[in-house]
Amino acid sequence: MDYHGNPRAVIDNFKCSQCGKHIFVSPITTNSDTTSYKCGRCSFVPSDHTIRMKTFEELASFLKFPCTNEGCDVIIPWGQIRNHEATCNQRVISCPCGVCPDTYPINKLVSHFLVKHLDITSTNNKQFKATRNGLHLTLITFKQLSYLLFFYEDHDTVWSSVYSVNGRPDNVFFQINFNGLNKTKSFSFRGEIIPFNDQEHCINCLRDICKKVFHKYSTFYPNRKKNMTFSMKISTIEELLGSFIEYCSVNIMDETKLTEDKPSEGIKGNNQHSLLEDLECPICQELMCAPIYSCEIGHAICNICKKKLTKCPLCENKLTDSRCFALEAIAQKVEKLHCNQC
Ligand SMILES: [Zn+2]
Ligand SMILES: [Zn+2]
Ligand SMILES: [Zn+2]
Ligand SMILES: [Zn+2]
Ligand SMILES: [Zn+2]
Ligand SMILES: [Zn+2]
Ligand SMILES: [Zn+2]
Repeated sequence: MDYHGNPRAVIDNFKCSQCGKHIFVSPITTNSDTTSYKCGRCSFVPSDHTIRMKTFEELASFLKFPCTNEGCDVIIPWGQIRNHEATCNQRVISCPCGVCPDTYPINKLVSHFLVKHLDITSTNNKQFKATRNGLHLTLITFKQLSYLLFFYEDHDTVWSSVYSVNGRPDNVFFQINFNGLNKTKSFSFRGEIIPFNDQEHCINCLRDICKKVFHKYSTFYPNRKKNMTFSMKISTIEELLGSFIEYCSVNIMDETKLTEDKPSEGIKGNNQHSLLEDLECPICQELMCAPIYSCEIGHAICNICKKKLTKCPLCENKLTDSRCFALEAIAQKVEKLHCNQC
């Protein structure tokens, strides 16, 4: 029986008024006279679709949906469409270079880069000079798979993420290393690689110049926060290095290999005092260590205090489940010397 109860023709009758895709992604909403719909992909786009179509969703939950990407035969159960769309090998993306106007299925990205963007295609262990307001976009190849590096410094913060293009094995991570003039000090951050989704991870969103309504992090949304895996103030990194950042390198790595790495030097000298202050929980004043959480606007709070509170004691905003990975990375180095809890 290959009838999946929802031929493409029926699905195509229910189009999202915002993105034009079928609407079968929860929460599905409609306007007051039920003349148009909005899909869950577009929840963040302002519109008058404020009525949730609960019954419709309940019915839809019994159905399965063919992937709408040309060339993909996958049949997707309700509830998993977004996840599939974010990782489908045939999903069409705008070229991540941010300049060329081409769109293509993601499985053509590598060949597109080899033809048009060879200058930003690299093997592993990508090294580059740090420059304020600098952008480093690179397609890195590691063990036959490709990864997109987004690395950007604005006037005071370094931002970076690495995205998978054609899948990633579970044990593969990326590591950024910052090096200064003092060769005995360095700072590294290790982060998770996530699938590239051009509507969520746009190089122009990162640079605050994207105006697209369908990009969650574009300038269209004035209260947006950048959603990058790594972000840290340049001054904090400089403090760790004891100098300006001379160069950076990015590596894609197997976890198996990481465990063989010798532990880093730790943090020494005068920098330690102010660093320790940054790592103090604002409530209990203990040194924080992973997991460190934050409020909606970014104040850090320790795991233990977070459990006791719902609002940030500093600003009254809600506490969230977002982790401060950058702070955790510092804590990891410092706590070897100081933490009382571990
Ligand atoms: Zn939509
Ligand atoms: Zn698909
Ligand atoms: Zn291109
Ligand atoms: Zn964008
Ligand atoms: Zn605390
Ligand atoms: Zn706060
Ligand atoms: Zn600890």
